[in-house]
Amino acid sequence: MNNDSDLFFGYDEIKEIADRYPTPFHIYDEKGIRENARRLYRAFSWSKGFMNYFAVKACPNPYLVQILKQEGCGADCSSFPELLISEKVGMPGESIMFTSNDTPAGEYKKASELGAIINLDDITHIPSLEKNAGIPEVISFRYNPGPLRKTGAGNVIGNPEQSKYGLTKEQLFDAYRIMKEKGTVRFGLHTMIASNELNPDAFVETAGMLFDLVMEISGKLGITFEFVNLGGGIGIPYRPEQKAVDIEGLSESIREVYREKIEHGGLAPLKIFMENGRMMTGPFGYLVTTAIHEKHIYKEYIGVDACMANLMRPGMYGAYHHITVMGKENATKDHKYDVVGSLCENNDKFAIDRMLPEIKTGDIIAIHNAGAHGHAMGFNYNGKLRSAELLRKMDGSVMMIRRAETTKDYFATLDFSGSEYGSLAKQ
Ligand SMILES: *Cc1c(COP(=O)(O)O)cnc(C)c1O
Repeated sequence: MNNDSDLFFGYDEIKEIADRYPTPFHIYDEKGIRENARRLYRAFSWSKGFMNYFAVKACPNPYLVQILKQEGCGADCSSFPELLISEKVGMPGESIMFTSNDTPAGEYKKASELGAIINLDDITHIPSLEKNAGIPEVISFRYNPGPLRKTGAGNVIGNPEQSKYGLTKEQLFDAYRIMKEKGTVRFGLHTMIASNELNPDAFVETAGMLFDLVMEISGKLGITFEFVNLGGGIGIPYRPEQKAVDIEGLSESIREVYREKIEHGGLAPLKIFMENGRMMTGPFGYLVTTAIHEKHIYKEYIGVDACMANLMRPGMYGAYHHITVMGKENATKDHKYDVVGSLCENNDKFAIDRMLPEIKTGDIIAIHNAGAHGHAMGFNYNGKLRSAELLRKMDGSVMMIRRAETTKDYFATLDFSGSEYGSLAKQ
């Protein structure tokens, strides 16, 4: 949602919410999330068994994972806590895809206990998997095409040849052969080479690449593939001039490639999976913050009560996030500001040289597209505490789905009682 008019709340409503829940907070729109998920599933309804495994890392809140589960999504996990979230919301076994890398042994064990589909990042992980979890009935491998595939500039993952993920093409043949010999009977193939990609052709190309590979591997090894997983990475329009990916058009193009390569190749049925995170929740979440200072030095600064610990993308990637000054949606944008947080890092800026309406202390500011890789990337540097998460439910009411951190949380892992520091404990 990259325009002031896209907001799912108006000034009066957010003012009332902010009176009840102090800013900063993240707020998500259940209706938007559900409708978007339904649209994705409708677009791919031609593909029997289509599933989007929501990348839990994008927004690891059980309420949101639950909502997406109700809309037919699975969960894509890459760590023990993410597996636990999926377990707690009752995600059925194979609705969990465990796509990790550099994986600790215990995580294979947990994924296996949950009955998750394990998607191996490397051929050398096979012995670790066998030792800790046994040989599963179903296996998937992550493919890294390396020099065989170039991805676009601006892609967060970057050039596949420089990326740490996945197996080479030659390794894939060995990997599936080994798993077949060890007794695995169901097979999938995965790749993820795009991130925040707005060009649908990238995904159509990826589908074609995986379909070809399925043909080649199954021909050579005599195995049948049950699914391909195109990964996540469908982008969202952060900037006002950007357009959302035409999901129906993307699905139609993949369908054509499917007909040509899979149906005509005699490889049907082959399920199509994706593991989008960003496009599932990103546009439906806002970081809401209050202007607490105006500063006039060499530039004009607006200091807000949120900081980079609540939304790291602008500071980390120089990412653009649209900003709406609540109640001033239609005012002239004739002031140039840096909108900043309080971290002692000069990259703690939500916007640089942004044209906005005149901002006064106390104004409520909504930072758009913070529903994925937003709160999730939060951290405690500089003693900053992560904010609360709110959900605006279908009936318009608002509930808190994660409380804000307190100093008690911040100190929970510290021990002030040691003898040398005894005086601290007494304070
Ligand atoms: C991060 C990640 C995703 C989700 O990416 P989005 O850009 O949020 O869609 C999916 N799969 C894997 C393996 C990932 O690492």
